[in-house]
Amino acid sequence: MDEIRIENLKIFANHGVLQSEKKEGQFFYINAVIEIPLGKAGRTDALNDTVSYAELCEVMVKEMQAKSYDLIEAAAMHLIVHILSEYKMIKRITLELRKPDAPIDASFDSVSVRISRARHKVYIAYGSSMSYEKNGKVIESPEIIEGALKMLSDDPEIEIVKKSEDIVTEPYGGVAKNMFYNGIICAETFYEPEELLDCLHSVEKSYGRTRDVHWGDRTLDLDIVYYDHEVIKTDRLSIPHADMQNRDFVLEPLNELAPDMVHPVLHMTTSQLLKLMKKCK
Ligand code: ADP
Ligand code: MG
Repeated sequence: MDEIRIENLKIFANHGVLQSEKKEGQFFYINAVIEIPLGKAGRTDALNDTVSYAELCEVMVKEMQAKSYDLIEAAAMHLIVHILSEYKMIKRITLELRKPDAPIDASFDSVSVRISRARHKVYIAYGSSMSYEKNGKVIESPEIIEGALKMLSDDPEIEIVKKSEDIVTEPYGGVAKNMFYNGIICAETFYEPEELLDCLHSVEKSYGRTRDVHWGDRTLDLDIVYYDHEVIKTDRLSIPHADMQNRDFVLEPLNELAPDMVHPVLHMTTSQLLKLMKKCK
């Protein structure tokens, strides 16, 4: 991928755990590698076809000085999320934030953090088959789903791009008893896969999700169906979702949003998977 690089941008700001660092401030240095397609700007010679490095420098200075963070990790992450949200042409940003005058009683050149984040396209399946009582008020499944999607879209690292119609289906797996409300969203996110899973779990938790009975009735279930075209297998994650090809309540709404998307392991489109599932039923 093409890159714009900004090296040793010097910024006076007030980040640090110590009160003295917050009060007196110190110099920070930024190295940023911005991955962005530059072929078009290279041929048209038009500023509109790229992102102005002057503007990026201005934004970084402004955002570094707008708020005081304890940690350089938090300052760096704030810059990354801000830049990826504002400049859609940027695919990835790798940012190194250096603090040469950190209050450490030792000889050193500088301390720094380096964080790299990109924009990713994800499909998230949602489902609910149980009401939830919050502050004495009973919230039914459609309202739970609405609230959960609002929580996701309020997250600065998630933008919901498309949402399927909600479908109401029979319980699945022989354990659950109630009807299920299901659907899919397509979203853009800056989260890494496990970070996204943590985020979904915290939304599930805020609607009282417990995990007592596998495949049992639940107030809210949020599953990652696809994360770009990646194939991921860890202790906590299977992507694409391991059972998606057998679930009509995943394939039907996915077919509404992405009928031609190819499953990276099965090498079949959503509409082909849906046809096959119906034939095998
Ligand atoms: P299910 O969604 O299959 O009904 P749960 O919601 O209880 O079951 O999820 C159980 C575990 O499945 C989660 O704790 C999570 O670590 C794991 N998991 C594996 N792959 C995924 C995925 N793609 N999306 C969400 N959770 C997943
Ligand atoms: Mg789940």
